[in-house]
Amino acid sequence: MQQLLRATTVALVAFSLAQAQAQTATNKPNIVIVATGGTIAGAGATTANSATYQAAKVPVDKLIAGIPELNNVANVRGEQAFQIASESFTNEKLLQLGKRISALAKDPAVDGVVITHGTDTLEETSFFLNLVVHTDKPIVVVGSMRPGTAMSADGMLNLYNAVVLAGTPSARGKGVLVAMNDDILTGRDAAKRTNIKTSAFSSGWGPLGMVVENQAYWFRAPVKRHTMNSEFDIDTLTSLPEVAIVYGSGNMTPELYDAAVKAGAKAIINAGTGNGSVPNYLVDTLKRIRASGVQIVRSSRIADGFVIRNSEQPDDKYDWVVAHDLNPQKAKILAALALTRSNSTSELQRVFWEY
Ligand code: ASP
Repeated sequence: MQQLLRATTVALVAFSLAQAQAQTATNKPNIVIVATGGTIAGAGATTANSATYQAAKVPVDKLIAGIPELNNVANVRGEQAFQIASESFTNEKLLQLGKRISALAKDPAVDGVVITHGTDTLEETSFFLNLVVHTDKPIVVVGSMRPGTAMSADGMLNLYNAVVLAGTPSARGKGVLVAMNDDILTGRDAAKRTNIKTSAFSSGWGPLGMVVENQAYWFRAPVKRHTMNSEFDIDTLTSLPEVAIVYGSGNMTPELYDAAVKAGAKAIINAGTGNGSVPNYLVDTLKRIRASGVQIVRSSRIADGFVIRNSEQPDDKYDWVVAHDLNPQKAKILAALALTRSNSTSELQRVFWEY
């Protein structure tokens, strides 16, 4: 009798444990981790190699298996989109990734998506996705500055925080987010602003909030158009036009602008000095290029602040565009998207004000 009682108790305990587990599994958000490579999937020769290593080595399933704590906060599965260092991203890869993220976001069984990415061009990809994926589900882009094999590797916690964020209801409708170094940044203006350090990512306008111990804390919200509210749609995009960046300095080489046109650029982002300035000996070159149909977008090589229209240069008179506060690489993404819809200067300028 006693034995029977013990067996029944054990069975009951096992049953309620299984039930509790099943319940937590159904209550947990379903998150897909789409891996593209980068340092977060990197491996070095020794634990002291924090900066010398090979990026894009560890497959996504191994990354997930390395953080068992993920199972406490989400039902996670992985997909390997690419296994590359992010400096090797191309427009084709951006489009391919965007289409996959859009398909996942449309899946009713998916609550949020995390993209693991190299940090070099993470700012381009996060801005691109922010502009073209029509969803209010959280999409979080994450990377790391140290490979997982290094002492004090940052990838584990960054990825954990990204999964938490992707499963957080209050992250919905905020556009594509970047989770790095405990901060939540908007994919619109998050940028790699220092290398080597784990605090590599920031924005001139500050983070939106932080993730601390499974919880997102918000302090700001993005005001520019994005995702659901964007006129750009990945599902209808098949290619992106060529856009070139020419970096400003003293003693510029005018021939570089002509080389960009020759290479097929439909817009040139002038990463100008200061307020996106154009030296006096270059004005005629840029006016001539604009007259030939190629757009000129004045951005700045300065990390913070924004370029003011018709200040240093008479943009109305020259028919040029200003990039507002977008850095040259972000301006390149937005100009390419805008040019898929219109080649009018006023349309391009409207897009730069609104996004
Ligand atoms: N070169 C690497 C990449 O962007 C650097 C990193 O991930 O931190 O893929």
